Amino acid sequence: MLREQIKQAKDLFRSSYGDRNATSDSPLYCASAPGRVNFIGEHTDYTGGFVLPLAIAHATVCYGTGAVVSKSAPRRCRIVSTNATDVVEFEVSNDLAPSTLNRWANYVMGVGEYLRLRVSHASTARLNYFLDTQNRKPSAIQYLPSLGPDETFVFEVAFSSNVPIGSGLSSSASLETATAIFLEQVMKLNESQMYGKEQKINRAKLCQRAENTFCGVPCGIMDQFISGAARGGKLLLIDCRSLDYKEIPLGSSDEQEDKPVLVVTDSKVKHCLGDSEYPVRVQQCKDATAILSKVNDCIKSLRDATIVDIEAAKKKLGLEGTILKRALHVVSENKRTVDAAAALESGDWKAAGKLMNESHSSMKEDYEVSCKEIDTLVALAQSFDGVYGSRMTGGGFGGCTVTLVKKEAANGLIGYLKEEYKKTGQECECFVTSPSQGGVVVDLD
Ligand code: ADP
Ligand code: MG
Repeated sequence: MLREQIKQAKDLFRSSYGDRNATSDSPLYCASAPGRVNFIGEHTDYTGGFVLPLAIAHATVCYGTGAVVSKSAPRRCRIVSTNATDVVEFEVSNDLAPSTLNRWANYVMGVGEYLRLRVSHASTARLNYFLDTQNRKPSAIQYLPSLGPDETFVFEVAFSSNVPIGSGLSSSASLETATAIFLEQVMKLNESQMYGKEQKINRAKLCQRAENTFCGVPCGIMDQFISGAARGGKLLLIDCRSLDYKEIPLGSSDEQEDKPVLVVTDSKVKHCLGDSEYPVRVQQCKDATAILSKVNDCIKSLRDATIVDIEAAKKKLGLEGTILKRALHVVSENKRTVDAAAALESGDWKAAGKLMNESHSSMKEDYEVSCKEIDTLVALAQSFDGVYGSRMTGGGFGGCTVTLVKKEAANGLIGYLKEEYKKTGQECECFVTSPSQGGVVVDLD
C-alpha cells in the first residue's frame, strides 16, 4: 500500500515542480507516517490518563527535496498534496503566521517552524515554546542544535495520503509526523546516536504543539505519539501524564494461533456538535476534580481518582448528575484501559472484548459522546458471531468504530455491517487492520 502512496507523491512532485533527479542541487528524501485507531482509553488523555492506540497501515508520505541554507539565500518553501489543490508557498522564519487561506498547510508550516526553533542555536529566547508542561524543564536538549546562527532550511515537497481525512483516524497527526521525519533527514537529526525513544516523545510533543497553536486544534498527544513511536505488531499503552509508554503485543507469544484482527468501520458521519462539546467535557472534568480533591487532596486530576473516591464524594459532597457521570466515565475508562492492555498481552480476547463493550456503554451513557449511527454500528458488530467486542473510537459524535473479531469472521462481519447499515440510509466503509509500524524514513534506493 505504501508503494502506491510513494508513487503518487513522486508523480505529484514532478508535475508540480518539474523533474528532479540526482543531478539536482538538493538530495531527495522521503518519509511516511501512519494514521491510528484507539483500541480503548477515550477522553482520558486530557486528564493525564491512559490510552491504548495502534498505528494502522494507512499512511501519509512526504517526498521531495530539502536543504540547510544560509539565511541570506532564497528561502521559499513549497508544499503540495494530493488532497489539496494548489501549491502553497511560505518562508520558515520568525514571521511565519498560520494561513487562513490554506488551512491544511498550517500542519506542515507549524511543524517546520517549531522544528527550526528547536534546532536553532539562536532561538533560546523562544524555547519556552517547548517547556515541558509537567516538570517545566526545557526539552530543547533532546534535539542537538544543528542550525548555525545564520542558517535555516528550505524544503519543497509533495504529500500523498490514504488515511481517510476527518474520519477520526488522525490524518492530521500522520501529516505532521511525516513532515517532521522528512525534516529530521534534511537536518541529519536522525543520524545522531542520541536518536531514540526520547526523540520520538519530543517529536510527538513538537507536532502536538504545532497542531494546538498553529492549527488551533486543542488535541492531546496520543495521535502524534502513536504515529511516530509505534512498532509493527504492538499497541502502545501510553501514560498521558508521564508520557511513558509500554508496547503491548497481541497475544502472549508470536506463535499464538488464534490472534484476532481489528475491523475499523467509518460511519461517514461527523456531527459538528463534537467541536463545541469537547471544551465542555474538559471543563466538566475540572469541575469533578475540584469536588473530588475535597475528598482526597492527592487528587490533582481525574487520573488520580478511584471509584472509591467517587462513592465518598457522592455521600459527603453531593457529587451527582452530569458531573458525576463524567467522572465515572473517565475513572472507569482508565482502569479498563490498563486492564485491556493486560488482557491483550495475555491473549485473553474475551476479556479485552468485554472491556471494549463496557467502554462503549460508558461513552454512550455517562460521557454522552456517541450518536445514533455509531450506536447502530456498535450494536450490529457486538451481535455478530466471532466478535469479541466493539466500541466507538475517537472523540465521538461520529467517526469510526473499532471491533475485535476472530480473523476468519472479519470478512463476514464487514459484509454484514455494510448491508445492515445501508438499511438506515447510510453507507459505511470498513477495513481490517492489525498494529502497524510507526513513522519511518523511506529508503529511495
Ligand atoms: P483527522 O485527523 O481525524 O483525519 P482532523 O480534522 O484532525 O481529522 O484533520 C484533518 C485535516 O488535516 C484536513 O482538513 C486537512 O487540513 C489536514 N490534512 C490531513 N491529511 C492531509 C493531506 N494528506 N493533505 C492535505 N491536508 C491534510
Ligand atoms: Mg486529527
